[in-house]
Amino acid sequence: MNSEAALALLQNTYGYDAFRGQQSLAIESALNGHDSLILMPTGGGKSLCYQIPAQLREGTGIVISPLIALMQDQVTALRELGVSAAYLNSSQTLDEQKAITRQFAAGELQMLYIAPERLLKPKTLAYLSSQPISLIAVDEAHCVSQWGHDFRQDYLGLSVLKEHFPQAPLMALTATADQRTQQEIEQRLNLQSPVRFNASFDRPNIRYHVSVRQDARKQLIKFLAQHKNEAGIVYCLSRKKVESTAEWLVSRGVNALPYHAGLPASLRETHQQRFLREDDVVMVATIAFGMGIDKPDVRFVFHMDLPKSLEAYYQETGRAGRDGAASEAHMVYGLQDVVRLNQMLTESPMSEQQKQVERHKLNALLGWCEITHCRRQGLLNYFEEEAPTFCGNCDICLSPPKTREATTEAQMFLSAVYRTGQRFGTAHIVDVLRGLDTEKVKQHGHEQLSTYGIGKHLSAAHWQSIARQLIVQGYLSNDFERFGALTLTENSRALLRSEKTFHYREQLAEPQQRKKSTSR
Ligand code: ADP
Ligand code: ZN
Repeated sequence: MNSEAALALLQNTYGYDAFRGQQSLAIESALNGHDSLILMPTGGGKSLCYQIPAQLREGTGIVISPLIALMQDQVTALRELGVSAAYLNSSQTLDEQKAITRQFAAGELQMLYIAPERLLKPKTLAYLSSQPISLIAVDEAHCVSQWGHDFRQDYLGLSVLKEHFPQAPLMALTATADQRTQQEIEQRLNLQSPVRFNASFDRPNIRYHVSVRQDARKQLIKFLAQHKNEAGIVYCLSRKKVESTAEWLVSRGVNALPYHAGLPASLRETHQQRFLREDDVVMVATIAFGMGIDKPDVRFVFHMDLPKSLEAYYQETGRAGRDGAASEAHMVYGLQDVVRLNQMLTESPMSEQQKQVERHKLNALLGWCEITHCRRQGLLNYFEEEAPTFCGNCDICLSPPKTREATTEAQMFLSAVYRTGQRFGTAHIVDVLRGLDTEKVKQHGHEQLSTYGIGKHLSAAHWQSIARQLIVQGYLSNDFERFGALTLTENSRALLRSEKTFHYREQLAEPQQRKKSTSR
């Protein structure tokens, strides 16, 4: 019954033939009044999961979203379809806000989009509670999690929703949440026995490619030459770099536009509109650009700098290929990125605990950059999804990297982990291996160990890279609960007994030396 009505709405109002993936199940669960946690990749079609039940159930559906631009776009689109939708946010005049409040009170709104800080005002909560609410959808739900990668203080207050609207099914939606973030979302939003929808995160039409930065501009222009007359995004870390890169591309005849939060709003809007309307705009942007941009034929995403985590990388590259056609995600990175990101972290006002989380995520990303097996598998595994060992559509599958056997180094590292009692993070283990005379070494008497100083001949950067690759290859686990302490795994025991060999991918560690040896 319910699902028939949903399908009719999909076809008649939206003009689509059929539901995709888990949409219909997610809709049905809301129609039946259940709370839910919906994980779907970007472009997976999350909006319909709440828009349709909001229209079919009695009352107004409330959608909480952190992004004003995204609210406006969705409301405009809904109105064009004849759905009575509105939004409330700080960009409106008092009169406009009053008009919407009146419409709501008269029961005329099918959907109301609202920013969290607005919703949480006691006055707003009070009048919203005075009318029937069909459902509440929390978009970008990972923002409620401190473990997630985009924590927003305003989202924490959403824990009161369940108290104020006990009757309304609560739907939490996100495109990025590992197991731990999912748990945190459920707890913080007080979801009541939620139904969980977990779509595969694989984006098979996106080809992943990561390379070490040599001459970033040269690498970019070479890449763009293979993407003539296509739309794409080039991400840079700083505003300055956005501007200089865009300018340079324009001078090379590319239809490039800059976008970052420091540009005037009107200019940002113009550039965004041009990106949406023209076929071949290359948007050079900071991460301020992209959330909520629904352009199906973005053919590539190029990272000039390392993003801050794999979640961020996945989300940013996910903007390519929403139409399902072949697309490319290309990243160049260098050791300077790591230094800079770490420095930004150190200087940021986050709590120590939060910084730990971020450092941990940065390391996981680096490990993934240096991966020696299928990149897609590595990415999906990171999101706790099983995946085949060969995808045929990533740089590693297409041309396996050169590795060298480094079993002895790996054994040195693992025994240092073992001898120090599996209680320390990478930094200390590296100090022990390199025989450094630090406070921590003295405090624990680690200068007495047989592994003390056995790795003197190699740089700290090299050992850190060995550590990351040991983690990525499953020879070490990084116990976050214990402040990043490294512990041995089943695999590591086999490696220590030389029943397995360890292959190392020379990457960030000693790029100069590598260059010299290849140029001879
Ligand atoms: P998300 O919020 O998960 O990133 P959206 O809800 O914005 O994704 O949907 C992405 C695109 O897919 C939109 O253009 C949307 O209209 C389209 N879409 C969603 N569901 C369907 C469907 N069942 N059939 C066809 N197109 C769909
Ligand atoms: Zn692959």
